[in-house]
Amino acid sequence: MDKKNIDWSNLGFGYIKTDKRYVSNYADGAWDNGEMIDDDMITLSECACVLQYSQSIFEGLKAYTTENGHTVVFRPDLNAERLANSAKRMEMPVFPVDRFIDAVEKTVRANEAYVPPYGTGATLYLRPYMFGINPVIGVKPADNFQFRIFATPVGPYFKGGAKPITIKVSDFDRAAPNGTGHIKAGLNYAMSLHAIVTAHQEGFDENMYLDAATRTKVEETGGANFIFVTKDNKVVTPKSSSILPSITRRSIMTVAKDYLGLETEEREVYFDEIKDFAECGLCGTAAVISPVGKINDHGKEICFPSGMEKMGPITQKLYDTLTGIQMGRIEAPKGWIKVID
Ligand SMILES: *Cc1c(COP(=O)(O)O)cnc(C)c1O
Repeated sequence: MDKKNIDWSNLGFGYIKTDKRYVSNYADGAWDNGEMIDDDMITLSECACVLQYSQSIFEGLKAYTTENGHTVVFRPDLNAERLANSAKRMEMPVFPVDRFIDAVEKTVRANEAYVPPYGTGATLYLRPYMFGINPVIGVKPADNFQFRIFATPVGPYFKGGAKPITIKVSDFDRAAPNGTGHIKAGLNYAMSLHAIVTAHQEGFDENMYLDAATRTKVEETGGANFIFVTKDNKVVTPKSSSILPSITRRSIMTVAKDYLGLETEEREVYFDEIKDFAECGLCGTAAVISPVGKINDHGKEICFPSGMEKMGPITQKLYDTLTGIQMGRIEAPKGWIKVID
C-alpha cells in the first residue's frame, strides 16, 4: 500500500481530512447497515438535538504500524464497551460492540495510506462519535442518530520528548457525584473550556479537578486520568465514580503489576497525600503518559522529586513498556492488539 506524501515526523496533533469515513444512521428503532463515504461535511436540521441540547458522545483510539509492519489498533473492544455505556447514560441507542469493531477496521482499511509508518512517532487517530440528528425543541432525547468514525494522522503528542508539565488545582468542577463524569460525552468538555483557557492564560498546562462534593480528593484533568508513584514504588490511581475510565490508565495498571512486578492500588486519593508521592503522570490515548513535575495549589507549589527535566524512573518504565507493547516490540497480553493488515 502506497502511503500518502506526508511529512510524518513533523505532524502535530491536529485535524487533517482523510479520504474516507464510516457512517451509520439510526431511525425507526434500528441502525442501518453502515457504509464508507467520501463526504466530510454533515448537513443537519437547525433544530437537531445535538445542536440544541448537546446529545453527543465520542471515543478516541489509534491505529499504527508495528515494528514488523502490521497495521493494528489497541483494545478497540474497550472503546466499543465504553461508547455503549455512554450511550445508555445519554438516552442514545447502543451501537453494537461487534459492529463498532468492524467499523473501526473498515475505517482504518479505507484510510490505510494515512497510517503513519513505524518509527515516525505518528499514528492514525480514530474518532468514533454519535449524536442526535432530528429536530427537538421540547427537552427530550432525539429519535434519530448518526454514528460516524473519521480518521486523522497525528504526530507524537510531545515533540522532542515528554517534558514534565505544570498543572493547577482548579476552582471549577468537572463532574458532579451523580453526573456524567464517567462517560465520554461532549458536554463534559464544553464546560471545561473556560477552565482550560483560564489555566493557560495563567501559564499552566492543565487543570487538576477535585471531587465536587468535598474538594478533598483528586479526580482527573479535563481529558486524562492521574497515576501516582509512591516513594516505595507503588503505582496508585484515584478511584471515583465521576472520573472517566481511561483505557490507557487501565492498561498501565496491568503493565505495572504483570510486567514490572509493582504493587498497584486503585483507591480514593486525598489531595493532602500528593506532597508525599514521588512521581505523577497524566494518561490518555493521545499522549500515553505525560509526566507532571509541579502542581500549583492557589500559589503553593508541590514539586515532585522527579523534577521538571524528565519523567520519573517508574513513569518512564511504564511508558516504555506500554508503548513497546503497542508497537509490537514487547509481547502483548492476549486480546490487546487487533491486527488489521
Ligand atoms: C478520553 C478521556 C481520558 C483518557 O481515556 P483513554 O481511554 O485512555 O484515551 C481520560 N479522561 C477523560 C475525561 C477523557 O475524556
